[in-house]
Amino acid sequence: MPKFYVVGTPIGNMEDITYRAVRILCEVDLVLCEDTRVTKNLLNKYDIKTACLSYPSDNLKPGADKANPKVEKILEMINEGKTLALVSDAGTPTISDPGSVLVSKIKETFPEIEAIAIPGPSAVASALSISGLPASDFTFMGFLPHKKGRETLFKEMAESERTVVFYESPHRILKALISLEKFVPERKIVIARELTKVFEQIITGTPAEVTKYFTVNTDKVRGEFVVMVSGR
Ligand code: SAM
Repeated sequence: MPKFYVVGTPIGNMEDITYRAVRILCEVDLVLCEDTRVTKNLLNKYDIKTACLSYPSDNLKPGADKANPKVEKILEMINEGKTLALVSDAGTPTISDPGSVLVSKIKETFPEIEAIAIPGPSAVASALSISGLPASDFTFMGFLPHKKGRETLFKEMAESERTVVFYESPHRILKALISLEKFVPERKIVIARELTKVFEQIITGTPAEVTKYFTVNTDKVRGEFVVMVSGR
């Protein structure tokens, strides 16, 4: 019976990969990637010779998969008995990343095949673990919508008794902080920036304090951000 693995990969520091992930990526017939150039970098570092194939992301909305020739090809390979591993560019596939529709399609088409998780890093868990905020239970909002529905989520944060976590890009981090100043002015905010990388940083304060920090230190408004908001 062929196997289907979903493999966590580093979120910055290339050493953050498990022995098991390296072994599985060596052993499978094919690695399904978001961007083959990114994954090949990782495979080269560990001298993994397995071939890569990109899987559809943008088009892979529910319903669009049936007509997608790449999905058909992937299903055909599984049908032929090939063992596949799915990775994303960074962290755990499907967590604010593509892949869940493909996983669902594979499980639906081949109910006898188990999807096997090969756990690895995820920015949400890494950020929470060093935030000092309560993390036994929390609300993860992924990337906030750019426009429609964005304000509703800030209102939800204002009501939340749990720590709220979301991902933000450098283009919108200041905009998000200004909204936090408006909706949760008294709360403690923790920002994890560039986790596991050379310029890793944690910034803590009220929304106004953190906004001021980034307004003064404009060189820090770059890289990758996880935003955490304490519960009320
Ligand atoms: N699948 C990934 C995971 O498991 O965390 C998330 C991928 S999502 C496309 C990318 C976002 O995750 C970034 O915009 C940032 O918000 C967050 N992220 C990823 N790597 C990060 C890092 N090294 N430091 C801080 N945030 C990171």
